[in-house]
Amino acid sequence: MGAALALVAPPQEDLRTMAHDALDKWLDQIQAETGTTPTLLELSEQFMATRLQLLGACLEGLIRQQYAADLEQDEAECRCGRRLRRRRLDAKEISTLHGRFTLHRPYFYCDACGVGFHPLDAKLGLSPRHHQYDIQDRTTRVGAELPYGLGEEQFARLTGVPASAHFMHETLNAVGEAATLERVLPDANEIGRRIDAAREGAHRRPVLVVACDGAHAPTRPPGGRKTKRGAGAWREVKGFRLYLLGPDARVIHVASWHQIADKAELSTALGVVAARIPRDGVRIALVADGAEWIWDVFREHFPDGEEILDYYHCAEHVCETARAQYGEDTLEAQEWAEATLTRLYLNQLGAVVGGLLRMRPRTPAAEEAIRALSIYLEGQRERVGYRELRRRGLPCGSGGIESANKLICHVRLKRSGAWWLEANGNAMLRIRCALYNGTFEQVFADYMASRGTPNPSP
Ligand SMILES: [Zn+2]
Repeated sequence: MGAALALVAPPQEDLRTMAHDALDKWLDQIQAETGTTPTLLELSEQFMATRLQLLGACLEGLIRQQYAADLEQDEAECRCGRRLRRRRLDAKEISTLHGRFTLHRPYFYCDACGVGFHPLDAKLGLSPRHHQYDIQDRTTRVGAELPYGLGEEQFARLTGVPASAHFMHETLNAVGEAATLERVLPDANEIGRRIDAAREGAHRRPVLVVACDGAHAPTRPPGGRKTKRGAGAWREVKGFRLYLLGPDARVIHVASWHQIADKAELSTALGVVAARIPRDGVRIALVADGAEWIWDVFREHFPDGEEILDYYHCAEHVCETARAQYGEDTLEAQEWAEATLTRLYLNQLGAVVGGLLRMRPRTPAAEEAIRALSIYLEGQRERVGYRELRRRGLPCGSGGIESANKLICHVRLKRSGAWWLEANGNAMLRIRCALYNGTFEQVFADYMASRGTPNPSP
């Protein structure tokens, strides 16, 4: 076997000679273009401008050596078992993070099956597109963080590879199709590992916080860029975040999922992650801001979870009411808010609601605020009592979901002037969740598999 390979592969020296020649040529060019006393910056910029020529030549040389036999292949077997003769050599220009080169690969065609293929493309795992998967992986990560125009600019500056904003956008949307709910959420094994990490050194079962919230995303109806589109609309992005409270209140992220979606879709998503949680391994704390639909969804999937009204939302609401009634920055407002929050802390919700009913509103705005707060607190009876929750090591609220919303949704979707087609906005959210959940690599692997082996017909 080894002997047979040695016969077809050119000796190692060929590659080395080629690489050394390329290096010599490159060094000559650097010296010619930077003068006698270049600064470090000048040298670095010159390297940056020319490194892809050198690296591209090396990469090409390596492939030519490693796949010498495949580049010469003149016979192949079709999937139907027929022996095929090579039809021709097809040129493919290949762009990588390490430069560009052209490969002339053997092409085979089976008349009986009506199928044509390049065996080498499958061996190399080539993308049918010009920019290969190494570039597609990076542009998707960049596009998930930056607006595409800015992404194009920064990507070219940092890599020397010109990938257009359009390419970034298209690739991200295509990867977004592979970013399914099942794959964006970590699997049961991975969730188990994170729970084990949270349990280390703890004397109680770790708390798994399940937090749910809505945020708003600017969307626009479909329509070409040139045709007049309808007006944009703010749609609700619904999402959840699960995280563990480890020893010393350390937060260990488990899973995030955010989509422009309705209650039923969010419930389905929460059901998928709920099925991956080992119930006997954690104590479940359900945290939300008060909207009743969220509690319905929680109860469906975590009937044994502890329901907690997010303290920060609750406090915000109380302070707004205090300001409406007693004025901005007054001592009265501060005292009333503190007294109200203390009662909630002590689980005296009944007394708080009773007090609100007895209050004499000073203005119509105050009347409205008082009414809204009593409606908000009504029905939250078992969800406050923060002192007791704290004693049991449960959280009083979730800064977590707020920051997840900001991190996943706002920073990328809410850029000035950006309006999203719902499908594209959701693809972006799924990619961002995958990056945040640590599942992007498996999503990208699915994306590559979905592209299949390039098999162009003649
Ligand atoms: Zn065939």
